[in-house]
Amino acid sequence: MSTTRRDFIRFVVAGSITAGCPIDLSLLAVGSEPVQVDGDHYLVCHQIRDGHRFAHPPATRKYDVVIVGGGVSGLTSAYLLRDEDFLLLEKEPHWGGNSYEEEYNGALYSTGGAFVDGEESAINLSKEIGLPQLPVDNWDGSIINGEFVPDTWGDGLDHLPYPQHTRDSFKRFRESMLAIDLEKREVELDSVPLRKFLEGYAPEVKQWWDTFGPSNWGAASEETAAGLVVDVVQTTAGANRKDRRTTWPGGLGAISKRLSEVLHLHQDRMLLNAETVAVVPQKHGVNVTFSRNGKLETVAAKGVIMATPKFITARIVEGMPQTQRTAISQIHYIPYPVVNLIYDRPVFNLGYDTWCPGNIFTDITVADWVVRNQSGYKQKYNILTCYTPMRREERSTLLTEDGCRRVAGKVLRDFQKLSPNNNVDPVEVRIYRRGHPMYMALPGNYKHVLPVARQPMERIFFANTDSEGPVSTTAGGIDAAHRAVKEYTVGTNATLHTT
Ligand SMILES: Cc1cc2nc3c(=O)[nH]c(=O)nc-3n(C[C@H](O)[C@H](O)[C@H](O)COP(=O)(O)OP(=O)(O)OC[C@H]3O[C@@H](n4cnc5c(N)ncnc54)[C@H](O)[C@@H]3O)c2cc1C
Repeated sequence: MSTTRRDFIRFVVAGSITAGCPIDLSLLAVGSEPVQVDGDHYLVCHQIRDGHRFAHPPATRKYDVVIVGGGVSGLTSAYLLRDEDFLLLEKEPHWGGNSYEEEYNGALYSTGGAFVDGEESAINLSKEIGLPQLPVDNWDGSIINGEFVPDTWGDGLDHLPYPQHTRDSFKRFRESMLAIDLEKREVELDSVPLRKFLEGYAPEVKQWWDTFGPSNWGAASEETAAGLVVDVVQTTAGANRKDRRTTWPGGLGAISKRLSEVLHLHQDRMLLNAETVAVVPQKHGVNVTFSRNGKLETVAAKGVIMATPKFITARIVEGMPQTQRTAISQIHYIPYPVVNLIYDRPVFNLGYDTWCPGNIFTDITVADWVVRNQSGYKQKYNILTCYTPMRREERSTLLTEDGCRRVAGKVLRDFQKLSPNNNVDPVEVRIYRRGHPMYMALPGNYKHVLPVARQPMERIFFANTDSEGPVSTTAGGIDAAHRAVKEYTVGTNATLHTT
């Protein structure tokens, strides 16, 4: 595609590398260097990272519990505590965190979380809040050498457009994964990298998992805990396989949106654009200082639930034990933009989630897949969500709008090269950038690191999906909320009201 042609396509950049940091610089404590704030406000977040301290004004209000972070985990915590005197603080101008939906002329699409994989906590919660789940019912295909192959790890392995010996290698790998007793070897398989299990197979097998891993759990085969792949192969290619996945148009953003709607009655206790800068244990409670509308405010609480990612949590919570800080420093996060290609005609509708090894993006989902067969539905826009996980050393590319546009441009270029049918111009290309949204499922993370990172402090409790594992999921965020709320009630002797 020529540069001139691309210039006619509208590129929209949203989100920010630190997920926004709307802080008035004048609030910074004395002694900070003057900095220039640009559209993404990341400089101030980096100042927090670098240890700047904020003033802590005296507490002006009291709550039973303050929840910090309005992603799905914080929203679920608020939902479980809806009859209590809670305050929910979210720094972005919208709820949802990494599960956030957007729309184009009424057509919903995802900027992050895609589907629930049969996890009961997510299914039960969505039922309870009146959001019927819609089945995906489509095994993932792959596009290899320009050819779409349905059901990659099922019948697809017989049809991969590779030489016979490469296809055989894929099949041998599948058989060896199916033969492993995962339950018996769970702890061992959490601590060894997948690389060891790929030795002796065709490089294309490794390439396939180096595509799948970063998209699903932030790590390629060198750094992936092997048990995850054993589990995926057994679930997708085992004798009793069943596609358990469900979603909605807009992906898992639908669940956060619905939670925020259900909590509408309590909106005076749910603050957007409220960035927490300090959580400080007191003798009989905890003080939380946050910035909103250019002002710092402190509130007092009996307990606090931190539903923020741990790399932020560790910088805001004072008095955290060193062992917990050390564990948190071992959790690594990848930069992960998501590019949505918006077409006003059908361009690609062959499968829900399609893997594309060898491209800048790893996989594509079709935004309206689960409603496409509903009677009366007509696809107005074919919106393709291209997952584009990046390596940690590439994070700075997302700091500038120009860097983001380059990434989005490469996604479009690679998509158009996949097949001649794709060589159509979209009406718009949107990139949603996030600097640290997904923790990596590194060997040892699940069994050894996360249990220490989530240890409750006396009156401070830890939610967020990065408390749970083995991989970053919306269900993990929901599970973490249930556990943190329970710990809060026990830790503060709270008696919950029920409606
Ligand atoms: C591209 C992508 C694809 C994914 N696909 C899937 C999928 O298909 N299925 C699945 O189950 N999961 C998926 N996930 C993972 C899933 O989206 C996350 O696990 C889930 O959304 C995490 O929710 P959370 O509330 O625990 O954390 P977060 O979403 O990280 O929420 C934390 C919130 O805290 C806020 N915050 C941070 N600092 C502060 C502060 N100082 N003060 C106040 N607020 C603050 C943030 O703005 C954010 O809203 C995907 C993730 C990504 C990035």
